[in-house]
Amino acid sequence: MSITTRFAPSPTGYLHLGHAASALAGWKRARKARGRFLLRIEDIDRSRCRAEYADAIPEDLAWLGIDWDAEVRRQSEHLAEYGEALGRLDAMGLLYPCFCTRAGIAMSAPHGKDAAYAGTCRHLSGTEVAERMARGLPYALRLDMDRAARQAGPLRYHEEAEGWLAADPLPFGDVVLARKDVPASYHLCVVHDDALQGVSLVTRGEDLREATSIHLLLQALLGLPHPAYAHHPLLTDASGRRLAKRDGAMTLRAMRQAGETPESVIRRLHANG
Ligand code: GLU
Repeated sequence: MSITTRFAPSPTGYLHLGHAASALAGWKRARKARGRFLLRIEDIDRSRCRAEYADAIPEDLAWLGIDWDAEVRRQSEHLAEYGEALGRLDAMGLLYPCFCTRAGIAMSAPHGKDAAYAGTCRHLSGTEVAERMARGLPYALRLDMDRAARQAGPLRYHEEAEGWLAADPLPFGDVVLARKDVPASYHLCVVHDDALQGVSLVTRGEDLREATSIHLLLQALLGLPHPAYAHHPLLTDASGRRLAKRDGAMTLRAMRQAGETPESVIRRLHANG
């Protein structure tokens, strides 16, 4: 069976060498298998994403010689769809409003593991919730993790080079599925869109592997198919430090302006990989 894979960057800066490696990994897998390669722009975080970065993504990829099938999907244009998915989880009794001030900050970041939320707002009574809502206090929506995990049962995923692995979302606690400032979250959108776009193989960096357990859980709860996963190692610089946006000189744009060709960028990737 043919595969569909994707590259799903967040436009919080110009694409750098690490993005190029990720995009190429997915693109090569898809082209080799005569499958589909999709481009999705994950731009729901209005405070961190910028239109100029989003517009630069297709341009930078095309310069590298990467092409994609179907129209580019921009998540910010589909908030109503994510709202519908949230509504389904809410109807299952799996969500609760959280008025805590740190909600929507650290907990909704796709990278890194934050301490699990203590569950303070899970214990609010209906009257307390209604009173806070009437006062217009902003709130996030959190997943009741214990209940959700019980409902979903045991979860596992297929990691390409490793085979079947157990997924355990419990340590993440009550993750935020709708932020205070955006009625959605990375986890919800990625799961919704991978299913909608028929993604059968998720290719992405090793830094997002942990989040896979949450994604498996949401797929099970929403009755969506589970794609297979291929997490690739992150590029590092000569000192072993992970390449990140702060290395401005390493953006594809900067390299192009400095006279590099797509071929020399790809050679660099082989050297770094
Ligand atoms: N948008 C996420 C990021 O830029 C990646 C999402 C994914 O590949 O699942 O880190």
